[in-house]
Amino acid sequence: MTIAPTIMWFRQDLRLADNPALNEACAGGAPVVAVYILDDASPGQWKMGGASRWWLHHSLVSLSRDLQARGSRLILRRGPARDTLKNLVAETGAQRVVMSRCYEPWARKLETEIYDDLASAGVVLQRYAGSLLFDPDFVRTKTGVAYKVYSPFWRAVSTTEVRTPIAAPKMIPQPAKMPTSDRLQDWELLPARPDWADGLRQTWMPGEPAAQASLDKFLDAGIAGYDSNRNRPDLPGTSRLSPHLHFGEISPAVCWHRARKFASGQRQLEKGIETFLKELAWREFSYHLLFHWPDLPEASFRPEFETFPWRGSLRQLKAWQRGQTGYPIVDAGMRELWTTGYMHNRVRMIVASFLIKNLLISWREGAAWFWDCLVDADLASNSASWQWVAGSGADAAPYFRIFNAQKQGETYDPEGVYVRRWVPELARLPDKYLHCPWNAPDDVLSTAGVKLGKTYLRPVVDHAETRAAALAAFATIKAQAE
Ligand code: FAD
Repeated sequence: MTIAPTIMWFRQDLRLADNPALNEACAGGAPVVAVYILDDASPGQWKMGGASRWWLHHSLVSLSRDLQARGSRLILRRGPARDTLKNLVAETGAQRVVMSRCYEPWARKLETEIYDDLASAGVVLQRYAGSLLFDPDFVRTKTGVAYKVYSPFWRAVSTTEVRTPIAAPKMIPQPAKMPTSDRLQDWELLPARPDWADGLRQTWMPGEPAAQASLDKFLDAGIAGYDSNRNRPDLPGTSRLSPHLHFGEISPAVCWHRARKFASGQRQLEKGIETFLKELAWREFSYHLLFHWPDLPEASFRPEFETFPWRGSLRQLKAWQRGQTGYPIVDAGMRELWTTGYMHNRVRMIVASFLIKNLLISWREGAAWFWDCLVDADLASNSASWQWVAGSGADAAPYFRIFNAQKQGETYDPEGVYVRRWVPELARLPDKYLHCPWNAPDDVLSTAGVKLGKTYLRPVVDHAETRAAALAAFATIKAQAE
């Protein structure tokens, strides 16, 4: 008698190690059909952006290779996941579908529909929480409601046991007859005309082995100074694990336990480790917010912000997107994003504050641009972070905290290493004027080969004026709320 296969549906868990869904699929010895479905229909406006598609291509190549090494094969299918899974169940005669849960509102709706479809066909659907430390619904306040403030959320998370990671299955049995697969090249996930991905290729190595190597490297070289260096875009001070975590190439539980184990007995590392765990918890908090407030990507968490009088221009939005605002740290960040698909967290906060509070352009425009450009574009973290900077989010930065881009640059890029890298036309300016070329005397500009308005832009807006305008605009919504 042939045993009916189990379908392992890979989603944002593109790994073999510590993958509870895969582990379950392999338990019991039934053959496993490993599948990835490219579904551009179900996410609606939140289908993957360009940089994420580049990452996905390479991550699938890596997963496919790792599955082959364990006697299996990755089946690729394209189309609405609901129909595609139904067809695959019928083709293979599978009696069970196993997957990791996703928490985007569209993905939750899809899971419910698929559950019903499969149940009516007598097929079991099993879902596991593999991409977070805890299911977002698991962490609750003492009165049983969702957290809106990070600090108590962190206290709850830090005192709850994180599950122990599980090893990758040694072998993954496949059925005698495997279903057909699409060819990855035919999905055209990589940009071709033009091929803008050179900077991504030079910066990243997607896939599970590279994710594990990044964690190792960070623990060896970065964690000791992480607490103080993580705000410095000029230093390699952070883990750069965010795209690996987003695509599930490494689990947060592995990061959590490995970091804690690494620190044991080394008191000098405790601060760095605790800060790193707190950042992982910010990721959890973002998912917690998205789970409990599913319209977070579209609507202001604080409703009074819905009437905010945005007035930025399309011309200024384009200048921000292209890294041509005349504010060196903002331009450096936006060019880093365009070239590498990544931006340092401190600089993300600076460019977001600049867009919202100096250009008075809605956080939604910024979030949409990030969505297309980031290799770590993540609906929960992106939406929560943009709303945090705007002041409209849960536990957000107060709206009246308006970053001064010049001062931020001087504080966090004091020798101008970051700005010189991404804004080379300013490279020869002395440190004193690097973050404020408009203050440099003519002879200094001339010696550095800078012609304001020609080789580098004059600021698109004046900080003091736009700061005052933003505060006045915020006062109007505050008055409405009272
Ligand atoms: P590390 O400092 O090494 O942190 C370790 C991990 O903790 C990260 O990989 C990430 O998974 C998590 N983390 C760190 N900071 C945050 C944070 N503030 N919020 C949530 N998780 C965090 N992060 C994304 O993963 N995807 C996004 O789309 C995204 N959009 C952002 C938009 C804005 C406007 C801002 C201000 C922040 C955004 N972040 C986003 C959060 C943060 O900038 C990145 O997670 C971080 O820069 C990734 O670099 P790293 O892996 O070296 O971080």
